Amino acid sequence: MIGWTMLSDTPILRLEGLSLDYGARRILSDLQLTVGAGEVVAVVGPSGAGKSALLRALLGLSPADARVHGTLQFEGRDYAAAEDKDFRRLRGRRIGYVPQDAQASLPAHRRVGGLLKEVLVTHRTECSRADHDQLAEALLQSVGLDASYLSRYPHALSGGQGQRVLVALALAGAPKLILADEPTSALDPVAAAALLTLLAQPARAAGRGVLLISHDLVATARVADRIAVLAGGRLIEVGPTAQLLQHPAHPTVQALIAAHPPLTGERPARWPVAPRAGPAEREAKACAFAHACPQVTARCRSEVPPLRPVEGRLVACHHVESSA
Ligand code: SF4
Repeated sequence: MIGWTMLSDTPILRLEGLSLDYGARRILSDLQLTVGAGEVVAVVGPSGAGKSALLRALLGLSPADARVHGTLQFEGRDYAAAEDKDFRRLRGRRIGYVPQDAQASLPAHRRVGGLLKEVLVTHRTECSRADHDQLAEALLQSVGLDASYLSRYPHALSGGQGQRVLVALALAGAPKLILADEPTSALDPVAAAALLTLLAQPARAAGRGVLLISHDLVATARVADRIAVLAGGRLIEVGPTAQLLQHPAHPTVQALIAAHPPLTGERPARWPVAPRAGPAEREAKACAFAHACPQVTARCRSEVPPLRPVEGRLVACHHVESSA
């Protein structure tokens, strides 16, 4: 049963103590995160960190043996125990989704215009057929593509154009929240920056929230208001973008940022190698980074550090005060 706790300053998305199990395996532990109206938040981390599992949980697309614990609120409603039909009402109309690969996501036999109009007819029932035609054109214009793209098939789109079409499709239902899954992974740095800008700027203007899931710290840092670093299934640092990049507090985040070239330079092909938490360590009563952290102490080996407020951010490290 879904209950209302709507408040005027309620974030669009709120995760509080959110954990996710697949069967007996813990995949995500104790996540705390909000996305407010007009805010762009990036969840970044290496592969295996749990980014895809988080995304599936937010879309209600987890495997059948998944169990969500804690709070997963969307616009004040808790969806932690929601059923399939509840998430179906959210997807498209309230939550827009931008997948990472246009060629894999767009049906090859459908024209762009037909795909857009299908979403509009499904979710914008307040509009007439003529409005839908105009809206389809306007949506393409909003992502920098003219009306000629309405008649194109996916194979006639470049990588960047395909991603723009995916953004237009995500916007078609006029959602409150956009979830974007590695939307720039197939793009060069210039196209990636352009795509993120056209995703973030109109969202801010429209009071829409954006949650970017990415391994690309450099590209997301250019548009995100806040960054949340996910590693080993836990958020280890969450803070304003500039503060986190210039003064990272968690030892692992310090190592990740030190391994990046300056943010104005070329991005690396891959996220730098970080200490990764194995399944056994996720379950253990210890910090997941104790095996590799240069600042490890006995306490780290006997107690999981909770995510707690430290100087305007959240950090999960027992010894952050001495290292911040
Ligand atoms: S809690 Fe200990 S092992 Fe974990 S990151 Fe902090 S100092 Fe390193």
